[in-house]
Amino acid sequence: MSWESTLIYYKIINQQTNKILGSQNNAKSILYTINFEQIEKLQQQNRWQEAGNILINACLSLQNGGADFIIICTNTMHKLLPQIKPHIKIPFLHIAKATAHEIQKNSIKDVLLLGTKFTIKENFYKQILIDEGINIIIPSEKDINTIHDIIYGELCLGKISKRSRQAYLDIINKQQNIQGVVFGCTEIGLLISQDDLSIKVFDTTYIHATKAVEYALN
Ligand code: GLU
Repeated sequence: MSWESTLIYYKIINQQTNKILGSQNNAKSILYTINFEQIEKLQQQNRWQEAGNILINACLSLQNGGADFIIICTNTMHKLLPQIKPHIKIPFLHIAKATAHEIQKNSIKDVLLLGTKFTIKENFYKQILIDEGINIIIPSEKDINTIHDIIYGELCLGKISKRSRQAYLDIINKQQNIQGVVFGCTEIGLLISQDDLSIKVFDTTYIHATKAVEYALN
């Protein structure tokens, strides 16, 4: 949803398409960028319905523009999918479903979930993973706030700091009995990656973007 992570999506989608089709091929796509300032204010003020209306209009533009399917490039705003879906005829590729399948493919059961406080604390996201038989471990209240504040205060603005990187790594490394960690926010991959960790990383940006390419080509 912040343009910082949209950029990564765009790159992965085109690179993956080219990897499969070769030559000068890239993905045919329509990108609708929302002004994140508006969304972030509505989230803070708990005005989700209005945020949903903005997304409905964006999705209608994509549908009318000829898109075959839609990916919403954020975990958090999947909270609003039940509000959006009835207005749109074309399918959505759900980020949590794509992630759940990837976790299952790796035969992993216990994962730590990182993301905004909405994604970590509410049920709209976690329940999808739980329904697929995955155990979700969440950080402490204090750590949830740290993760959340770094996402909005730094990552969505493209600010990458060593201190925040260490804070994220400390939160992950102190967890016991986890086999994997879900980067359940599309900007987390800007800060840390599989290279920083010994447990398996599920980066939702990469998973979602790759699934979109698979879906489009099939
Ligand atoms: N992109 C983030 C996510 O994946 C957070 C920003 C937003 O609220 O969309 O949840």
